[in-house]
Amino acid sequence: MMKTLRLGLMTVSAVVLFAGTALADYELNILHINDLHARIEAINKYDSTCSAEETEKNECFGGIARVKTAIDSRRGELQDANVLVLDAGDQFQGSLFYSMFKSGPIADFMNGIGFDAMAIGNHEFDDGPEELLKFIDAAEFPIISGNTIATQDSILSGKYEPYVIKEMGGEKVAVVSVLATDTDETSSPGDKISFEDEVEYLKKAVQEIESQGVDKIVLLSHVGYARDKEIAAAVERIDVIVGGHSHTLLSSTDEKASGPYPTMVKNPAGVEVPIVQAYAYSKYLGDLKVVFNDEGVVTSAEGAPQLLDSAVVPDAGYAAKVEELGKPLQELKQKVVGSSQDTIVGDRNICRVEECSMGNLVADAQLDRVKDQGITISIANSGGLRASIDSGDVTMGEVLTVLPFQNTVATFQLKGSDIVAALENGVSQIEEIAGRFPQVAGLKYSFDRSKPVGERISDAQVKEGDGFAPIDPEKTYGVVTNNYVRGGGDGYKTFATKAINPYDFGPNLEQAVADYLSANSPYEPYTDGRITDVTPADYTPPATAESPAAPAAPAGTTAAPATPAPTAAAPAAPASSEQAPAAAQVPASQAPAAQAPAAPEPASEAPAQQTPAPAAQAPEPAAEPAPAPAADAAAPAAAEGAATTYVIVQGDSLWKIAVQRYGDGAMWAKIAEANGLHNPNLLIVGQEVELPAN
Ligand SMILES: [Zn+2]
Repeated sequence: MMKTLRLGLMTVSAVVLFAGTALADYELNILHINDLHARIEAINKYDSTCSAEETEKNECFGGIARVKTAIDSRRGELQDANVLVLDAGDQFQGSLFYSMFKSGPIADFMNGIGFDAMAIGNHEFDDGPEELLKFIDAAEFPIISGNTIATQDSILSGKYEPYVIKEMGGEKVAVVSVLATDTDETSSPGDKISFEDEVEYLKKAVQEIESQGVDKIVLLSHVGYARDKEIAAAVERIDVIVGGHSHTLLSSTDEKASGPYPTMVKNPAGVEVPIVQAYAYSKYLGDLKVVFNDEGVVTSAEGAPQLLDSAVVPDAGYAAKVEELGKPLQELKQKVVGSSQDTIVGDRNICRVEECSMGNLVADAQLDRVKDQGITISIANSGGLRASIDSGDVTMGEVLTVLPFQNTVATFQLKGSDIVAALENGVSQIEEIAGRFPQVAGLKYSFDRSKPVGERISDAQVKEGDGFAPIDPEKTYGVVTNNYVRGGGDGYKTFATKAINPYDFGPNLEQAVADYLSANSPYEPYTDGRITDVTPADYTPPATAESPAAPAAPAGTTAAPATPAPTAAAPAAPASSEQAPAAAQVPASQAPAAQAPAAPEPASEAPAQQTPAPAAQAPEPAAEPAPAPAADAAAPAAAEGAATTYVIVQGDSLWKIAVQRYGDGAMWAKIAEANGLHNPNLLIVGQEVELPAN
């Protein structure tokens, strides 16, 4: 499809529906943003807050100061034209900025930019109608929604209009808005707000607007791209749809786009309706030009989203204000959200091969957040867990270090057989310590790494009441994960292709985990055997081509585990090409982790970091040769006598360690015993082993 689109673009960029330009033609320019999700500060390529280093390297995008520059300069260029500046909703939620300041600064910044209208997005209800009311009161522009119905006694009653009518260039243009009708499930509007079906509402609204002598109608919607297309096909006389909610990149030149910009859909009268959306997180400014004939019918629509990369210089005044406001965010990171009675283990070398307590915390927290929505199964990709948390007070900064990606809680339905297929993906690269290893809640499973990929999972059971029952391949279950995995990240393409009713934009994951810790403080980290490794004890993983030659055991010994730890030496998985489209469709922040190769990254997950550790998101270098043990890892034990801890490095075998430590390779068995190592051949780089006293 994209090939055709690109070809189309080379010839003519406008969708010209009628040839020729009559005198009465009316040109309307629409500059639009959507789903900024509190990205007041600039973002990096993973859509999370840009670090100082990334700023220095000109690797940042967006942020409100760039949005200001882009809109100002486009307005300047369009001086004598008719320009509408629109926001399709979801300014709220998604960054520390929002957690700290809520809507106040957002309204100030938007006032300074100047908007003609903003749609109410579902997340505008995240802090209840009270916060939305504050925002509406502070905004110097209309915030609108037509199918959002407030009861008479709601504090929002009479506080917003269904539509606005602007007069520009001697013509009236209406902007009408609708919001997703499941907002009561995805946010917290309370029981005094309800949502009318968008199509039914719009059919009435269009008539009402036209009866006021307005024949140009722009729908500013927050219902998602798919629903926008349905609305276009179902309702007559809407001229343009400017959408949001699905974070969809539309572009006629970008291969990662979900459709052309604009996407043309025929309405019931056969008139093509242009639909636009501009991704999310302040990364793009949508820029559409439509021409109406004197009957108020759109005759051409053209434009493109403008990428707000480092070439767009952030507005100096805004940038200074953002920096000033950003200072107290450090305080928020210090805020204690709860306490833990023990270390919550998030070590990648553990969480990517077996059940770990951080995995259980995150999987449990995700599930807890959505359990009232009929969700019973939780899957957390271990690659999303970036650090451990030590015992004692837990700060928001620590939670952000574990979960730095600003991912969101994502829910969907899935058949039991597809859940098992997803688990198979999860254990398919365990040799490479890949981030796809599934930490779970509401679910138990066993895996056997000696079996071929795709046949490793057994005994998958789902929680039913107080017990567990075998998963029913035909039954449909409610599942929660993060938006990155739901979109197919970390190889979970089953979720991208088979999910029923996916919703990717719940609360931020780090917030859900912080809330869960608060509610369950003091928190007791635990594992409970929900994941069982049933690999036969005598299984020897095949050595791989890149494994260093096994250090030969001295002749005469038979019991020596001669092969070096194959896991340690496993070559990095090449970035799987199949993951690329998934990452593009759901541009969640962890994209690079999806391609995370086996080699443990050195030192990047030091839990001491207080910032949302952008470094932790750096693409892990593929096939990094023999990484040094993590910075906090003990050096190979040299001490004689007392028991010590040793950290496995690439090429290690128990035999080799025993020779180093005791001068006697046969002592390997004692190490294996002391550490409960069922498979002496399976050592993991970075793994800590106890070396017992001689
Ligand atoms: Zn939304």
